[in-house]
Amino acid sequence: MSVPAPPALEEFRRVVVKVGSALLVDRARGRLRHAWLAALAEDIADLHARGVDVLVVSSGAVALGRTVLGLPPGALRLEESQAAAAVGQIALARHWTEVLGHHGIVAGQVLVTPKDTEERRRYLNARATVQKLLEVRAVPVVNENDTVATVEIRYGDNDRLAARVATMIGADVLVLFSDIDGLYTAPPHSDPTARHLAVIERVTPEIEAMAGGPASELSRGGMRTKVEAAKIAAGGGTHMIIADGRGKNPLRAIREGGRCTWFLSGSTPTAARKTWIAGSLEPCGTLVVDAGAARALQGGASLLPVGVTAVEGQFSKGDAVLIRDPDGRVLGRGLVAYDSGEAAGVIGRSSREIAAGGTPPSRTEMIHRDDLAMVGAWQNNAAIQT
Ligand code: GLU
Repeated sequence: MSVPAPPALEEFRRVVVKVGSALLVDRARGRLRHAWLAALAEDIADLHARGVDVLVVSSGAVALGRTVLGLPPGALRLEESQAAAAVGQIALARHWTEVLGHHGIVAGQVLVTPKDTEERRRYLNARATVQKLLEVRAVPVVNENDTVATVEIRYGDNDRLAARVATMIGADVLVLFSDIDGLYTAPPHSDPTARHLAVIERVTPEIEAMAGGPASELSRGGMRTKVEAAKIAAGGGTHMIIADGRGKNPLRAIREGGRCTWFLSGSTPTAARKTWIAGSLEPCGTLVVDAGAARALQGGASLLPVGVTAVEGQFSKGDAVLIRDPDGRVLGRGLVAYDSGEAAGVIGRSSREIAAGGTPPSRTEMIHRDDLAMVGAWQNNAAIQT
């Protein structure tokens, strides 16, 4: 098989880096591997200085907290791991603040539960927060909100969480650091015929079968959750890399051509998202726009309240709505940033008028251009997907 040369990491606009507990925490002593983390921060700072947006998904809260609380080795009960996470997350955030701060980078802690990345209303909020952090060039440091997430409502592993977050923010690539340099055709430690796979273009059942068994004691995700993550990432237009993170400067190692496995996505984050908006969501209402707004939307602009002439139906922030022109033609669909009641109160008014009228709305755009799928573009996106 001819292997396409993978793009260089610094060529991407937005990169998510996921580090697991087994890398961050010294298993025997239950302490943070500080020198390793400092070296990773150096790599992150290097990418960041090249203009790349970097977001970190960091495990380690439970692993750090359990040592402080003196909990016994082995599986923890739910309330024990929640207490451990409460204690460990503070330490984890402090360490990230310190190591990134050393390079003049501000870290921002973001704790999420699956609902924050899956329920559309909260999704828009979580995404807006992360976008803002990236805009001001901070590095968001994300973990699951383990102290409140119970068994039924938690990811439980940060591999899939990282994939959701990566697609949510339209990252181009997600790097999952592991204790192995990628996916093999069979377990490499026990099977001498095992072959390393450098590039995977599609996650097939055969690939899933190669991912085999779970997890070490400290990290929950084994290769299986990593391949699950690859499927989520690919569906959202995000490439994914599994690389060995054990050595120092593991991002630099990838950039210098170190061995890893690439899972390529056939789409881009924007195309995947627009296909999802165009195809999978039932519209809950309609926004009628004036001719000027219709032209602006066709040109790729966001929809502002001033261009809307009527609001039809009952919808909540985050729902899908249809957009019609003055003649009733459907122009596209989008995820609306206002509830229908709030929308009706601001249409036809400029942002300045709205602000002058008292409480400014939470968002300037009624539908952000990233949340819009215009009719002409649907066909193009469909073509990209097939
Ligand atoms: N959220 C967990 C923690 O910070 C880790 C989950 C995982 O290892 O994937 O301890």
